[in-house]
Formats: sequence, structure tokens, C-alpha cells
Amino acid sequence: MSRPCFDDMKTPAGRECPHFFGDYYRGRNIEECRLLTASGQSWSPDLCKTCPVPEIARANSCHYMQLRLTVVRPITAMFQRRVQVTAFCNKSNRNVIEPQVGCGECHDIPFKFEVKE
Ligand code: SF4
Repeated sequence: MSRPCFDDMKTPAGRECPHFFGDYYRGRNIEECRLLTASGQSWSPDLCKTCPVPEIARANSCHYMQLRLTVVRPITAMFQRRVQVTAFCNKSNRNVIEPQVGCGECHDIPFKFEVKE
């Protein structure tokens, strides 16, 4: 039986992530990414180093936004596995292009400055 955890735990990469779970109680050493596990993908600690989820979670805590992770192996990263993130808003029922910002339904998307010459 797992114990409840109310704070985000630090990943092996040293960043807080709401989806990381570690159980070190009484000599245990169980670690997992619950978001990847839930989607049936295998997790390894190296994935946390480059994963964008901790930054997304820090920038946007919207509870309507669902993140979907896919582990990919891009050629440009010298065959190192990486986490790719897509986001969907359950309130507006649309894909979220910039998960750090949100879809704009609950909070206005910040306007952009345009400098005309
Ligand atoms: S892979 Fe990403 S989402 Fe999963 S625990 Fe690591 S930082 Fe969090």
C-alpha cells in the first residue's frame, strides 16, 4: 500500500514533478513516472533530465489540462530517449498548443507586442 504524498517529489534529475513517485521507506527504492506508467510506457530515470513536464507544471497548474507523454528517440539526440508532451483541455475540448500558457479559456493568453516600422 502506498502512502499519500501531498508535495511534488523531486525526480532523479533534481526537479519537482507532480507525476514522479519515489518510495524509499525502510530501504525501499521504488521510483516511477506515474504519467508514463498510466499510458503503458516504460520509464527510466534519464528521461527526467530532459522532460519538459516540471517546467509546464510550474508555469501552468490548470486542472482541466491533461498532459499526454510519448517516449521518442529522436535522431538529433543521438538516439537518447526523450519525453514528448502534448496537452488537451477538458474544459474547452481542444488541444493546447502551448501547455505552459494554456488554451486561453480560463485565463487570457498574454498578448504579443508587435513593433511596426
Ligand atoms: S519523466 Fe517527466 S513527467 Fe515523468 S517523472 Fe520524470 S519529469 Fe516527471
